[in-house]
Amino acid sequence: MAPLIDPFQRPISYLRVSVTDRCDFRCTYCMAEHMQFLPKKDLLTLEELDRLCSTFIRLGVEKLRITGGEPLVRRDILTFFQSMSRHLKSGALRELTLTTNGSQLARFAGELAAAGVGRVNVSLDTLDEAKFAEITRWGRLPQVLDGIAAATAAGLKVKINAVALKGFNEGELFPLLDWCAAQGHDLTFIEVMPMGEMGEEMRLDQYWPLKDLRARLAERFTLTDLTERTGGPARYVRIEETGQKVGFITPLTHNFCESCNRVRVTCTGELFMCLGQEDKADLRAPLRASPDDAALEQAIRAAIAGKPRGHDFDYSRQHVAGQMSRHMSHTGG
Ligand code: SAM
Ligand code: SF4
Repeated sequence: MAPLIDPFQRPISYLRVSVTDRCDFRCTYCMAEHMQFLPKKDLLTLEELDRLCSTFIRLGVEKLRITGGEPLVRRDILTFFQSMSRHLKSGALRELTLTTNGSQLARFAGELAAAGVGRVNVSLDTLDEAKFAEITRWGRLPQVLDGIAAATAAGLKVKINAVALKGFNEGELFPLLDWCAAQGHDLTFIEVMPMGEMGEEMRLDQYWPLKDLRARLAERFTLTDLTERTGGPARYVRIEETGQKVGFITPLTHNFCESCNRVRVTCTGELFMCLGQEDKADLRAPLRASPDDAALEQAIRAAIAGKPRGHDFDYSRQHVAGQMSRHMSHTGG
């Protein structure tokens, strides 16, 4: 079977699937406080998600990340992970993983590990309880820390993702770093992207370029750039004094699209070829039109043939360019 290769000769081996648009948090940079969620009939069923992911895996996808919204609030989502584990056993899938806010990990960590999930990314922007409640609106820090502890106890490797937010978590840089070192978690910082309706002024106010964050780190530590890549957009440095590895995801200050190997499917079966472009293909229609996967496969191949070169996010000249009206929870972060 011919692998998926896009027009810029990038092999597509990584699929991120949003399994729900719902969430038990309302992070201010991600969602509005009062979100209108999709009707259930529009969502792909777990069986449809299985068919869809299995088709991508047949076409050469080796890494599958489940995201949302909050993936662990979707009812029966564990059965989906359990079902996907057959592709790990067969060797077709190299990694099955998820991005989560951690709120439900205490409940699910053991079963996720048993299903073959080896690593989880947990989003955590601050270790200050009051600030955590402020940024997530509905979240409670102790619940997330319990979830992270349960994940570690279950043998899952935890990576912490923190969105860098000016005037919010600048003072958290060293506490987060120290805590991750003490707990043995990797840490990656992410630049805030213009996803979802939010006033231009507010977005620019939030934006803390990672080159500035890095300079702050360098005031205290010796940083060595690492050439290693984990198949994603993160670039890593080693902190020589502690041996800790820190990642930077810099969609704004450094465009990494040339090595993009991923596509994303929303919970309604829209295939987005790029997080920062509107190009999309409907996979729900071919999924529902026939129990045979031929039409689905054809739709996937046709979409990949139109994958754009990259996003156009840009905050320079005090203006937000490349803005997407979709919320991050829609496409799946
Ligand atoms: N609910 C899960 C979580 O929070 O990890 C998974 C979905 S969430 C949309 C995935 C990631 O996107 C999180 O790490 C979150 O911090 C990040 N995110 C959300 N909105 C963002 C934005 N506007 N810019 C950059 N990252 C964003
Ligand atoms: Fe929910 Fe994750 Fe978005 Fe926060 S970042 S509102 S936890 S989907």
